Amino acid sequence: MKHPNITKELLEKLYSTDLLSGRNIAKQLNVNFKTVYRYLKFYKISIKYNRNMQGKNNPFFGKNHSRQVIKESRERNIGKMYYTETLTKDVLIDLYEKQEIKAENIAKQFNVDIKTIWRYLRKYNIHVKRTGNYFKGDKNPAWIDGRSYLPYSSEFSDILKLKIRTRDNFECQNCGITEEENLIIKGRNLDVHHIDYIKEHCDEHNLITLCRQCNIRANLDRDYWQQFYKDKIASIYINCK
Ligand SMILES: [Zn+2]
Repeated sequence: MKHPNITKELLEKLYSTDLLSGRNIAKQLNVNFKTVYRYLKFYKISIKYNRNMQGKNNPFFGKNHSRQVIKESRERNIGKMYYTETLTKDVLIDLYEKQEIKAENIAKQFNVDIKTIWRYLRKYNIHVKRTGNYFKGDKNPAWIDGRSYLPYSSEFSDILKLKIRTRDNFECQNCGITEEENLIIKGRNLDVHHIDYIKEHCDEHNLITLCRQCNIRANLDRDYWQQFYKDKIASIYINCK
């Protein structure tokens, strides 16, 4: 490897113990952040294990609040990082027009300011709803323009997959790898898995975010994993309420 100064011990301290982000470490070491992730992989520093590392050696030991704050801030940043790529015209039309989700709730879902949503609606020429006199269905000209090319909601669309990954905080619901990490290490987004293995069954309660590795594993002992992810989904929806 090219950077002899990036030792395993150093990376373990910065990433796992001090809980610095890959980008912060990159800044400190004056290298590209992709280099940092390459080294994490090279040293087999297990992202999931270390992110939840506990013990006396960890300066955050016993300070769960701080750890929680850091974890939440990582999740927020991941949300921010993705909105520019994910707030596409199709996605906004689906959420705002088709599903009639309020702009403020879309903003919450994407962890952005409501003004960002307004800006994107204007940018895409999407008809902005005004309460009281908003036309519904075929009386609204935007309805015809906006939806004629949209997939049906029962279809396993990119929009639905994005919605599930957003619900699951862009984290594999088994091993905890984030989409950001997965993109850098494996070069791909996280998968959305059908819990009952029936591809046509696209109810949100039957869909869960997994990395490819955990997705493949779920095909080996189907009875076990089906129950495992059903329980997981139940806890996700209990936490939402
Ligand atoms: Zn996984």
